[in-house]
Amino acid sequence: MPSQIRKDDRDTAAKMQLFRARFSGLQDVYGTYDPASGRAWQVKKPVTDEVLLKHLTGRQPYGVYLLTGDRTRSVVADFDHADPTAPLEFVSAAKHYGLSAYIEISKSKGFHVWGFADEDGVDAAKARAVFLHITEEIDHPETEIFPKQDAIDPGSGSWGNFIYAPLFGGLVPQGRTVFVDVEASLRPYPNQWDFLDSVELVPETLFDEIIEINDIAVGIHPTSKVQVSLGVFQSPVMLPPCARRMLEEGVTENQRVACFRLAVHLRKVGLPYDLAEATLLEWSRKNRPTDGKGIITPTEVRSQTAGAYLKEYRGCGCEEPVVQQFCEPSCPISGRKLATKEKSA
Ligand code: SF4
Repeated sequence: MPSQIRKDDRDTAAKMQLFRARFSGLQDVYGTYDPASGRAWQVKKPVTDEVLLKHLTGRQPYGVYLLTGDRTRSVVADFDHADPTAPLEFVSAAKHYGLSAYIEISKSKGFHVWGFADEDGVDAAKARAVFLHITEEIDHPETEIFPKQDAIDPGSGSWGNFIYAPLFGGLVPQGRTVFVDVEASLRPYPNQWDFLDSVELVPETLFDEIIEINDIAVGIHPTSKVQVSLGVFQSPVMLPPCARRMLEEGVTENQRVACFRLAVHLRKVGLPYDLAEATLLEWSRKNRPTDGKGIITPTEVRSQTAGAYLKEYRGCGCEEPVVQQFCEPSCPISGRKLATKEKSA
């Protein structure tokens, strides 16, 4: 399969232009990862041609922050499973609405389904709402949608979430990070540049039509509430400070314990299991282990989350060293603990 990918006659400048046209977002920050360890991080530097060339030639992966304000030039449904049935159903359902969507075999085991807009982009909230609607139609509402937020405030210091761009040179020869033809048994397009040049761009008016015909609510999808800066947990009554800080900042050690404790908190505030799992998978990417261990894997996150949802665990884990690092004296539980200690002293 990989050997079917052909070289292209375009010069480097033309390829850069085409690549930028399809996979553009914020220009002063990008994401990357170490293919050997899987560790991912953010790079606060301009997205130069050199950055893109390193990606295309397999030297360093490039992750694009798609959101620019409230606009995006691409929208992506991220299917985690190796079974292509769901992404194929997505493409078919999108086609029913006249919306062209394209399947990329992702870097690990799943698939990304991309929709592309022109250089002005489209309203991200509308694009997300339509993609989320389609995932619900095909009974896969757990699917992550990129961008994960409807908008970012440029002054907030938040950039949203990055997604790895296709055509990473280190994986293309293995038939990964390439777009595949749904009409040809998911074989990679032999010329990926011709393919990128030929994609149908989705106008915002089409998203408007789909939203109106299906009476889709824009910007209030329950999943987006979890994905937008963990907004549902803003009330300290719902989550204790330690949990909020761990979720927002990630941890540097004892990730499995932290994951379990966070899952217990999420269950106690009533978050459904699938949303807790999605939240913690997202959280795991923020972790920066300094204890010599790799980032907790998706399988481990699922295992810890499942364990926490098995029983009605009530404890907050205040005694755990990894939790204590994030403890704040303002927590009402901290006050109660102190009072109990004084009483028993
Ligand atoms: S007292 Fe316990 S629950 Fe409250 S912030 Fe500290 S560790 Fe968390």
